[in-house]
Order: sequence, then structure tokens, then C-alpha cells
Amino acid sequence: MSTFQAPKGTYDLIPPSSATYLAVREAIAAPLRNSGYGYIETPGFENVELFARGVGESTDIVTKEMYAFETKGGDKLALRPEGTASTLRAALEANLHKGGNLPVKLWYSGSYYRYERPQKGRYRHFSQVGAEAIGVEDPALDAELIILANQSYRSLGLSDFRILLNSLGDQECRPVYRAALQDFLRGLELDEETRRRIEINPLRVLDDKRESVQEQLIGAPMLRDYLCEACKTYHEQVRELLTAAGVAFEDDPKLVRGLDYYTRTTFEFVHDGLGSQSAVGGGGRYDGLSEMIGGPALPSVGWALGVDRTVLALEAEGITLDLPAATSVYAVPLGEEARRVLFGKVTELRLAGVATDFAYGGKGLKNAMKSANRSGARLALVAGERDLAEGLVQLKDLQSGEQTAVALDAVVDEVRRALA
Ligand code: AMP
Repeated sequence: MSTFQAPKGTYDLIPPSSATYLAVREAIAAPLRNSGYGYIETPGFENVELFARGVGESTDIVTKEMYAFETKGGDKLALRPEGTASTLRAALEANLHKGGNLPVKLWYSGSYYRYERPQKGRYRHFSQVGAEAIGVEDPALDAELIILANQSYRSLGLSDFRILLNSLGDQECRPVYRAALQDFLRGLELDEETRRRIEINPLRVLDDKRESVQEQLIGAPMLRDYLCEACKTYHEQVRELLTAAGVAFEDDPKLVRGLDYYTRTTFEFVHDGLGSQSAVGGGGRYDGLSEMIGGPALPSVGWALGVDRTVLALEAEGITLDLPAATSVYAVPLGEEARRVLFGKVTELRLAGVATDFAYGGKGLKNAMKSANRSGARLALVAGERDLAEGLVQLKDLQSGEQTAVALDAVVDEVRRALA
């Protein structure tokens, strides 16, 4: 071990388990690629002000969890804690919304950073795959995103998860509700910090996990009862579309989520095998965000699914993904001449698209065959001086142990046939 370890709250993805992470990212992205979403990649850091304004000054993410720093040049930056604000910033900057082709549908995959108290499922560096549909207000778009997230999880074989759904109202009805909620909350026994939250972002108080707070919240006014007609109709349509698509969900009138920009549809995917960090993904509509960061009115909706927690969810359900072996053929040369010839065959096989590896370092036969087995390869290609003198190599099936001599110039074809 070196003197250094991965920083607190982080961990390394290493083979072989890292293959599962890649497969999860792929599985989440596949339905998006198939539904008109284009890939976007933004920097790992942004102007800190983007998150302060976008995610919200009163959120834990901005006040407590942001890796903010000043550069030598005096720029105030922050490592990105989430993907929506950056994606919208990039879309506006590139004028994607002006192409006359709304919604702008984008997907991304990357690392995010939050200075959180680490525990299982909660890290300071984590991965998300996200999707944003920018510039259109249409309940079918909200439904599409929920259906696609559901499809991603199902394609991985997950089933022990639930979809929680709520509407947070809009600029018309939410302020009325906010005032009613504030009146109610001001009458409760709460600590200093929570009292401050009542004034800045009272909805977040509903999300307080503490028992002492939750028991006082019984009888609190619910947003559901304050939704305006437009929001009610919109929400009903989202619900109907999901039901028609066969996607089961639970209405959760208390779901608010930790980011300030959400309006109307909000949802969370929770997995029941994960303990306290049960949210595997979440998202919603953010009709006001564009204006909050200086853009035009662009009603939008999106989600982010956590890759780390999705992998934990697979473990919790005992699911092992059926991943193709990294190596199909493993070449074992015996002697110098065989090294030269087989190395050439390895390159040839790789060019032909066959995943091939080679016994490097002049290992003896026994060790090399051990490496061949460990690689997961189906076939070993073994050659010694005598085989080569006859223009042959041995093709060995590592499962059955069966071995056949193959002419050197027929190796690629024979390997292909054996793998088919
Ligand atoms: P959020 O951006 O907070 O809505 O989070 C979306 C998803 O990202 C969550 O449902 C989690 O799966 C994942 N996530 C958020 N924060 C963390 C974290 N600190 N560690 C691991 N995963 C996280």
C-alpha cells in the first residue's frame, strides 16, 4: 500500500467490479439515446454563482456541501454538485433553444461533488446519468422521462423500487401555499436554523427527517390542497399518461426534494433495499430555472439517476449483470520465436474485433495458463517451437480442455468459428 489513500467519502472503481458501473451507466443511457436525447458534456466546475442562483441559496447543497474555491486568477468556482444548472447554462450559451426545435433533449454522465457526511450510499464524489428536456411544457414530456428512468432500472433487472410523485405547483399557486405553510410553521417548536428556513424556504421543512419535527408537521397544510386549476390538470395528465404506460407510482404529497428550482412535477425513485440512502434517482420540472440564471422563459423537466446507488441496489437485490468476458482469446507463447509470431496473431485478432490478450513477461506454460483462465477467455492460443515449425498453433477450449491444431493463417477464421 502507498502512503496515500482515496480521500474521505470517495472510493475507486477497480476491475472487475468497475465493469458493473460501466454497464449501469450504459443501461441508463440506452433508453435516452433511443428517445431523441443528445449527449452533452460540461466542465467539472462552474462559476459558483450559477449554483447559488440555480440550485438555490438556501439549500444544503449550496450552503453546506459545495466545494467552492477561488482560483489564482480570482475566479470564484465550484465543483459541480449536480448537472441541471450546468446543462441549462451550456444549452443557453450555445443557443440550442433558438434552433426552432424545442424541446432540446440532452443527456449526460459524469462525476458530481458534495461535501456530505459520508456513509454507505452517500459519497463526496459520486456519479450520475442525467437527462434534461428543455423549452417545452407538456405533461407527455414529464411522463416520458419517468417512463425512461423506469425502463432503465427494469432493464437492469431491478424491481424492488417505487416511484414517488408530487406536484409543487407554479408561480401562481405556490406563493399562496407558501404563506399558509409559513403561518403554520411559525407556531411550532423549532430550532434556530429551522426557523430561518421557514422564512427562506419553508417547503424544505417538510422534508426534515427528524422525528421531533415530523410529529409536529401532522396537520400542516398540504400543497395538494392549494394547487391551481392549471397545475391540477397538468398533474392529472402526467398521472394518466404514466398509468396508461403501465408505470406504477405512489402519490407523495410531502415530496419536495433538496433543490429550489423545481415546479409542478417532482418525482423520486426509491429503492427499498438501501436503508437510509434509499433515493436512487429523482427529478422534476423546473420552469423557472432558465430565468433564474439570466435566460428566457424555458419550461423544462429532467432527472438524474445515481450510478453508485443503482449498483448498490443491484447488490441488494442479488442481481449479477450478465456481462461479456473482457477477453475471449488468450495467447500463450512458448519461446522467443513463438512470442514474435503469436504477438502478430494477437494484433490480427484484435483488428478483426476479437477481444484478445497475451501472456506478457515470458511466463512459463503453467503460469500463463493460469492467467488465461483468470482472464475469463473461452479460448487459449498456444504455440511452441515445434508447432511453429509445422506452421501450426494449438487452439484450446478452456472449458472443455479440448485442443485442436490450427494452421497459422487460418487462426482468425478458426477462432471466429469457435466463438460463434
Ligand atoms: P439529486 O441531485 O440530489 O436529486 O440526486 C439525484 C441522485 O443522485 C440521487 O437519487 C442519488 O442516487 C444520487 N446522489 C445524490 N447525492 C449523492 C451522494 N452524495 N452520494 C451518492 N449518490 C448521490
